[in-house]
Amino acid sequence: MSANLASLERRLRRLEERRTGEDAVYVAWGRTAAEADAVLRHARDTGIVAHWDEAIALVWRDPTPAPSSRWLVLGREHENELSDRELSLLVDAFEEEAVRREREVAAAKGADLPDLDDTDVRIRILRRESRDLPRDLRFMAIRENPEPVMHWSARGSGLVRACQCPSCLSGETSPQVQYPAHQARFRAWLKRYAPEDELYV
Ligand SMILES: [Zn+2]
Repeated sequence: MSANLASLERRLRRLEERRTGEDAVYVAWGRTAAEADAVLRHARDTGIVAHWDEAIALVWRDPTPAPSSRWLVLGREHENELSDRELSLLVDAFEEEAVRREREVAAAKGADLPDLDDTDVRIRILRRESRDLPRDLRFMAIRENPEPVMHWSARGSGLVRACQCPSCLSGETSPQVQYPAHQARFRAWLKRYAPEDELYV
């Protein structure tokens, strides 16, 4: 498991602890939201999932076959039981829920958060709860602005030539030009969301 995924997992566990104090969740996968909901309904109807259990229906949009719907126990010793992609989608879903709850709690206190987008709200939660804010903010910045796909060279035999595809020519995918488009997006993200934090990434 990479360092990024280890941090993801830590974050997931923290989110999960906050929800229920439990460390197991039933994940129902479907190709569409309706299909995932039907899978979850079936699991509830057949007693695989009790009404007090934590369960979540998730959509698998990748071209690969959807993972099997099953109970997942979170934690380091179980990390091989779910793929990196599953973990990442689970974290997304839990973060969405954390944002929804944060907005609800704020609204209940009369402090609506209309000017904050979802990333602002996630950062608001982090600022309150993180034990290592720079690390968590850096991690979020990297996750929101993933490294571009690299095109090392043009296809074909013979001498190695730099790729000349449109995205390489625009600096999006070519390492030789330091990914200017990616760098610009990254800097803009930091400026927009964490201007005071002096993060080096
Ligand atoms: Zn290219």
